[in-house]
Amino acid sequence: MEKISIIVPCYNEEESIPLFYNEICKIADEFKKVNFEFIFVNDGSKDKTLDICRDLSLNDKRVRYISFSRNFGKEAALFAGLEYSVGDYVAVMDADLQDPPSLLHEMYDGIKNEGYDCVATRRVTRKGEPPIRSFFAKCYYKLINKISKTEIVDGARDFRLMTRQMVDSILSLGEYNRFSKGIFSWVGFDTKWIPYENVERVAGTTSWSFWKLFLYSLESIVAFSTLPLAIASIMGLIFFLVSLIMIVVIVVKTLIIGDPVAGWPSLVCIIFFVSGVQLFGIGVIGQYLAKLYLEVKNRPIYIVKETEKDRK
Ligand code: UDP
Ligand code: MG
Repeated sequence: MEKISIIVPCYNEEESIPLFYNEICKIADEFKKVNFEFIFVNDGSKDKTLDICRDLSLNDKRVRYISFSRNFGKEAALFAGLEYSVGDYVAVMDADLQDPPSLLHEMYDGIKNEGYDCVATRRVTRKGEPPIRSFFAKCYYKLINKISKTEIVDGARDFRLMTRQMVDSILSLGEYNRFSKGIFSWVGFDTKWIPYENVERVAGTTSWSFWKLFLYSLESIVAFSTLPLAIASIMGLIFFLVSLIMIVVIVVKTLIIGDPVAGWPSLVCIIFFVSGVQLFGIGVIGQYLAKLYLEVKNRPIYIVKETEKDRK
């Protein structure tokens, strides 16, 4: 029998997991000819998430769990889940039921009968989200798609069902700075998109503050575009050309009408401006260097403290 693995990254989701588990069991029972495994990845939660995972796996053979030694972030949790999964098809979904499990039927159908490698979801509305956040999200998607060759679909969720072949390709990308939305798209394969209305989380609170999202978006730019580096050199070139013209103008002016001592304030402005641009350029290079540094260190993406096999 074929098997679908469901990967659920969990960070402080003690309230959501039981609700999620009920829902996913209902859906799993509707699939008559498919086996399931549910992999909960406890990403260093500070609440009872791990205890709940232990209990579930004790009572239900389909439930497996991986518990990290600390919080490594959702991207690391996803990666760990993909590595541990053994199913022929793998789905990734959030614990807070923002990803409706009922869509699994349509996803499975898309792969089995329509020949897609992956069926993914995208939100078409951002209902229940602060307007300012939606605005920045829109700008971000416009920007990243202009400057990156990898397409990042607006409103795309991580929620998707993939074939084993696609999962293995994703796992072959061993990079430390993981931006899943980009990686899913980078590996290619035929993807079908299912649009759906945004759903608010059932319980708990989101762990993403505005600031965290902002930093995350910067990281994704560094991960999937090198254009900022080019901008630094282009600006350098423009400034060089402008200064050449200015030198000529000043020399000619001095020869023709002499040189009264003036222009001190404008000089200071120019110095400030140019050194600002220089620092910006160094900063951009620094961002890439920092990422490079982390990649070169080659640290593991996550550290496991316990799995269902260690449960006493
Ligand atoms: N998550 C995680 N590690 C983290 C932050 C979040 O595993 O450091 C999980 C979280 O438990 C949830 C999913 O990632 O299942 C999405 O998180 P959240 O709902 O907070 O994000 P949002 O849906 O608001 O983007
Ligand atoms: Mg959520």
